[in-house]
Amino acid sequence: MTAPDRAAPVVARTPEELARIRAGLGRTALVPTMGALHSGHRGLIAAARERAEAVVVSVFVNPLQFGPGEDYERYPRAFDDDLRACAEEGVDVVYAPGVETMYPGEQIVTVDPGPIGDVLEGASRPGHFRGVLTVVAKLFHMVRPDVAVFGQKDAQQLAAIRRMVRDLAFGITVVGVPTVRDHDGLATSSRNVYLSEDERASALALSRALLSGADASVTGPVGILGAAREVLDAAAADTVPVELDYLALVDAHTFAEVPPDHRGEAVLLVAARVGSTRLIDNVPLTL
Ligand code: AMP
Repeated sequence: MTAPDRAAPVVARTPEELARIRAGLGRTALVPTMGALHSGHRGLIAAARERAEAVVVSVFVNPLQFGPGEDYERYPRAFDDDLRACAEEGVDVVYAPGVETMYPGEQIVTVDPGPIGDVLEGASRPGHFRGVLTVVAKLFHMVRPDVAVFGQKDAQQLAAIRRMVRDLAFGITVVGVPTVRDHDGLATSSRNVYLSEDERASALALSRALLSGADASVTGPVGILGAAREVLDAAAADTVPVELDYLALVDAHTFAEVPPDHRGEAVLLVAARVGSTRLIDNVPLTL
């Protein structure tokens, strides 16, 4: 994985610097991130390198996608470590604009995600997907990538971005990369650093519930949801409880909940709070 002889990536801080660098790049893949890079991000970078001559990683903690009372202020920021990780992964350019550069004035014009923006993550975090799509649209205009790479870890985000690219004719190929997990099944996330040892142990119930649901996939939607809920009910009674936000089985494109007789593709999703940390996870299924 490590390539010690790789040059450090070039860092651009403004759209003008980025445009000058971009002019010299061939087919380019963009990996948008909020930094605090981990193995999941490295998986996206590896996928990006397979699909383009040059890889741009953006590092920007986007205030527009955080609601009041969420963790914008305390979100982990580790730029020096991020640069090292990008160098190891052979990234060509790191684009790290400041907040004033991304949002020089009030952001009046934003991207409306449509109905997918109002359910599940969108219902729990009003305005979240509007914030995500708006920053991703701006990054697309600034970087002008041929390919953009996102994780299935944020499955609803990936579906919303695919829809935006189609409906607003961005002409960019969107690639989704399967979720990277730690050896014990926990999906890697920048927010995992918030978890104490006990909380981390409780948090394993999320991936266990998804696995249990997946194992029951021949039984159809009711059986899948029942199997997953059993694990989560037990975890809700733990000493360090898992407080469920939602468990849902949805259509992979619209994110509408599937009917009990559904067959074909679906996504089983879970969101829960462990201590003060909100975690999400999902697994794609074929019923
Ligand atoms: P973030 O920095 O959390 O905004 O994530 C940036 C990108 O990395 C998004 O496309 C995420 O879906 C993706 N990502 C985050 N964690 C993982 C993971 N464990 N596996 C795969 N992709 C991930």
